[in-house]
Amino acid sequence: MTDDEAQALRDEVRALRAQIDELRRGLDVTLRGGRCRACGGMAVIHSPQVEDMGQYTAHALALKRVNKATIGELEVYLCAQCGLVEWYVKDPQAVADSAHMVPRDPGDPYR
Ligand SMILES: [Zn+2]
Repeated sequence: MTDDEAQALRDEVRALRAQIDELRRGLDVTLRGGRCRACGGMAVIHSPQVEDMGQYTAHALALKRVNKATIGELEVYLCAQCGLVEWYVKDPQAVADSAHMVPRDPGDPYR
């Protein structure tokens, strides 16, 4: 085994230990965090805005649109290897503070 091969193995073991540590802490592997949970790929594409085509123009896709303002504008992370997509609201606190959103009722398991 060459020194380069030994170093590659040490690097791989280090990366695997880091993954095990994350799993033990109960942290989810996310594309936003830099790794795909489906295939383990680390080539991640970020689309900070998702276009939604209106009748005449495109605008940012969001959870809700009130007049011309958006609430919960969405962004996407995509695995370049397998195509898994993760959606996120850019500003979840603004959504939580919005009068147009309804908090989940913890008593209703179907909401
Ligand atoms: Zn993937």
